[in-house]
Order: sequence, then C-alpha cells, then structure tokens
Amino acid sequence: MSYLSNVRVWLGQSVDTSSICSDYHELKSLPFLTSLGCAIRRPSLRKTHLNADLRRKLGLNGPLMIDSGGFALSMNPSARWSVRHVSDAINEIPADIFVSLDIPPHKTDNAKDRIRKIRESVRNYELLLERFPRKVIMPVVHGRTQEEVECCTAMIASISPTPAWIGIGGVVPLLQRRRLLAEWGASPESFIAMCLRTVRLQFRQSRIHVFGAGGTRTFPAMVALGANSADSIGWRQAAGFGSIFLPLKSQRILSPGAASQGVRKVLDRDDAVDLMRCECPICIESNTFRGRTSLFRKSFHNRSIHNAWVIGNQFLRWPKTRAELSSLVQEGGLGAQWAVAVKQPHSKRTVRSMGIRLGPI
Ligand SMILES: [Zn+2]
Repeated sequence: MSYLSNVRVWLGQSVDTSSICSDYHELKSLPFLTSLGCAIRRPSLRKTHLNADLRRKLGLNGPLMIDSGGFALSMNPSARWSVRHVSDAINEIPADIFVSLDIPPHKTDNAKDRIRKIRESVRNYELLLERFPRKVIMPVVHGRTQEEVECCTAMIASISPTPAWIGIGGVVPLLQRRRLLAEWGASPESFIAMCLRTVRLQFRQSRIHVFGAGGTRTFPAMVALGANSADSIGWRQAAGFGSIFLPLKSQRILSPGAASQGVRKVLDRDDAVDLMRCECPICIESNTFRGRTSLFRKSFHNRSIHNAWVIGNQFLRWPKTRAELSSLVQEGGLGAQWAVAVKQPHSKRTVRSMGIRLGPI
C-alpha cells in the first residue's frame, strides 16, 4: 500500500463563513477542520452552528475534525471557556476527530509556566478521554525545548500509550515569523523536525497531525519527517490576496503589483505544466493557460475553489514512494532549511536529566 493512503489534509474554515465548497461534490467530501474557538469569538455560534446539525449546516459529507478552541482561548484568556464547555460540545456534535483542549504556551511564558500549561493540557485530555471512550480524542503536543516536547509526549503516553491520533501544536508561527526559540540554537525547521521525530519515537502506530502545516511547501516536508496529516486555512486567505496554489510550489500571485502580502512569485509560463494538470472544478472549464488564469482573475470564488482542491489533493502530484519524497526534500526541493532539517540525526535526551519531573498528572 502506498504511503499516501494514510496522508490527509484538512481544509480549515470558520463555522460562520460561507461554505463555498459545499456546492461541489469534488470538494464537499474532502476532510474539513472547524473549531469550537468560533464560539469564543461569537458565543451565539455554539447554539446556531456548533450543535448536532453542524455537518448539514456546513454542507459537508467527508471526514470532520473539531478543534477545541485552545488557540482562540490563548488569544482571549478572559473568555468563559473550559474543558466542561468543550466536553458538552463534543457530546452533541457528530464528528470523526475531536482535538483535546490544549493550553498553548505563550511566547512570554517561562519554563515553569510552560510546564504548568503542558500539565493542564494533558489533564484536559485525560478528562475528555474518560468521558468519551468511544470517540476519537486527539491530544496535542506542545513545547519550546526538546525536553518539554519529550516531557509532554511522556505524560500523554502515561494516559494513553497508543492514541489513534496525536497532534503537534504551535509550530507554524515559528515558520511564518522565522522566529528562533530562545532555547533552540538551530532553525525553526530543525525544531519542527525534532518535534516530529520525538512524537514518532513515542507513538509508532499513531497518526500524527501537525496543526496549520498543510501548505503546499510545508506539508510534503511534514510527511517526509513522519507526519500523516495537517490542516490549512490558507486556501481562502490566499484567494483573498489574489493568489493561487500549485502542488509543491509556493503560492503564485496573479497580477504583479497587487497587494501581495509577502507573495513574491507571479504566476507565469513556467507554472503552465503544473496549472494545466489541475483537475479542479474551475480549471476543467478551460483547456488553455490563458483561459485558466482569466478564470482566476475573475473572482475570489474561483481562486478559493481551485486552492481548496489543490490543498486537499496536493499529494496526487507528489513522488510515488516515501523514499523519493525524502530525496526531494533532502536535495533542497522545498528549500535549503528543510534539506538540513531532514538530514539531522535525532538524539533522544532524558527528561529527568533536565530536572523536569513528570510526577502525577
Ligand atoms: Zn484548478
């Protein structure tokens, strides 16, 4: 069986934005991720959308993952939102995977604060697992150092040694802002590689999901490093900035001079082969490069639909074996930093040697 049969990208979207994918049978069956965090932003959404009828409201019939709002809560710590709210919502909503309520460490937190938040996150996972033994609850690994990541995985393993799914949180801001962690001397890519290897070492059979890492240049690196799954909200955002996605490439803007939001590359004839291979519901309306680009220029809708299809199906254009994918990354096909990160050896440290005591959770 191909390594790709276990690979999956979830299209992220808020519950209250128009569900434009639901009009296309090619898209409505793709995996989607939405978040209870929408109810932290707008409490009325818990009643109107985040209920037993959620799937119909979104117009989707494929796999559905529900995030618990941990990230939204960290942005708005005074919100009334606890593991009890999450638990009640999980009880009501039909979905395939529920993300445990994680408490992401803030960048200003010191080591003591971070370990406290990791403990609290693991305790939330334990509570949810106890209440819903028949549902898939996904714990989330956090940490700013290798020791913290190892500590977090060890705590999760002490509650559930073989979870079906395990998430890794908080890695994408590192890539977006190119921020180096204070305790970490190497690149963000090598930190992420360390996180993936640590989690894979502890949970050999679990499916690993990396939050926010479903982009066309990031996701292949995640899979080369041992992940199975990621999500992306980028498909709508990129369309809003006037740009489109292509497999294994960075996003391409359609018009030079448009508000580019950091998008440097303009779609040109060098992208024609990739674009003409696209079988999305928009591209199949035209069999010329010019025709397809003019469809993209026409509307946000067309760009969004193309981008959703590309994100959800990007691995159809990847190398056919895992070894070939690894070679592509090692040879710099996704950039020099990923090439270095995938080649780095992994050395497991011992949590106890760093003075972090696991103790009772
Ligand atoms: Zn397309």
